[in-house]
Amino acid sequence: MTSKRNLVGLAWPALTDFFLELGQPEYRAKQLMEWIYQHNVGDFSQMSNFPKELRQKLEETAVVGAGEVVARQVAADGTTKLAIAFSEDRIVECVILRYHYGVTLCLSSQVGCKMGCAFCASGLGGFVDNLTTAEIIEQIWQANQELAAQGLRVGHLVYMGMGEPLDNYPQVIESIRFANNPATFNIGMRNITVSTSGVVPGIRQLAEENLPLTLSISLHAPLDYLRDQIMPINQRYPLTELMLAVRDYARTSRRRVTFEYILLAGFNDQLIHAEKLASLLAGIIANVNVIPYNEVPGLPWQAPSDKQIRFFLRALEARGVTATLRRELGPEIEAACGQLRRRLQGEE
Ligand code: SAH
Ligand code: SF4
Repeated sequence: MTSKRNLVGLAWPALTDFFLELGQPEYRAKQLMEWIYQHNVGDFSQMSNFPKELRQKLEETAVVGAGEVVARQVAADGTTKLAIAFSEDRIVECVILRYHYGVTLCLSSQVGCKMGCAFCASGLGGFVDNLTTAEIIEQIWQANQELAAQGLRVGHLVYMGMGEPLDNYPQVIESIRFANNPATFNIGMRNITVSTSGVVPGIRQLAEENLPLTLSISLHAPLDYLRDQIMPINQRYPLTELMLAVRDYARTSRRRVTFEYILLAGFNDQLIHAEKLASLLAGIIANVNVIPYNEVPGLPWQAPSDKQIRFFLRALEARGVTATLRRELGPEIEAACGQLRRRLQGEE
């Protein structure tokens, strides 16, 4: 661990203060941000518009990035999963996904998760801590480092990695505003998706921010007695309350809300579930992502057969629900978040 100042994710006022303390003018902060976020350069010796003494001073007092990529898995389709360690027990995962429209980064908001969903690997290792804004931002920086050689950079963010983003609200919202800033990654609000298991006060707070983000709800079951069994948060905020908040969000933001629906064989993949899902979503401009379950070693859940998956999709479409089948990219690299950390920590 280093006692040097980490400059990644440092907001404008703190960064200008840092340069003022070094006896440097404020515009150095702007130049540094250009190097880090736009040119993807973290090596002070390459920062050619800095005087030599300043570069030396920076080497002595600062670092660009506090984490280390400790594992990297690359799938045949190019999907890349990184495990970044900020300390021994502070390991997070992010996944670089390549789509025809650009690169999406799936990032983590916490180390572990408190929500305890029965199908998810993230909660299995327990909850360690909230990530800081800088640690969330560093995932984008590290991903861009990976992508630089191919002339690519992250253009979309989905908060679907480890953790519940709305359980780490202040840091997540700050990281969104930071990444959106034209002086940093300049990622459009419309290119950012926040996924939640259904933290109702967080959804309401997010609505008040009035940002054109995409809200994604991890629904996974259309009936309370089923959702209660797999998502403990449903006992706190049952479907009626959740859907009320979602309807309000959709109305005020005028954005299409996305629903995630993992298909778990024999549990939520029958005709009755498609019918109930369709009536739950009636009147909402929604898109349902149907996701065959990504099996987690040690957990009893399985994905349904392809035939059952197609049947479920058709049943939704027949009831006027816009649904897309989301095949997990790179399944062979344990793209379901939480799995790589578990393996690294030998918990499986
Ligand atoms: N905590 C937030 C965001 C992280 S999880 C949330 O729950 O929405 C991101 C998505 O991955 C959620 O929809 C979650 O339910 C889903 N997921 C978790 N484990 C999975 C698995 N093994 N296979 C497929 N999807 C999974
Ligand atoms: Fe947490 Fe989301 Fe996993 Fe549930 S699905 S345990 S909320 S990361």
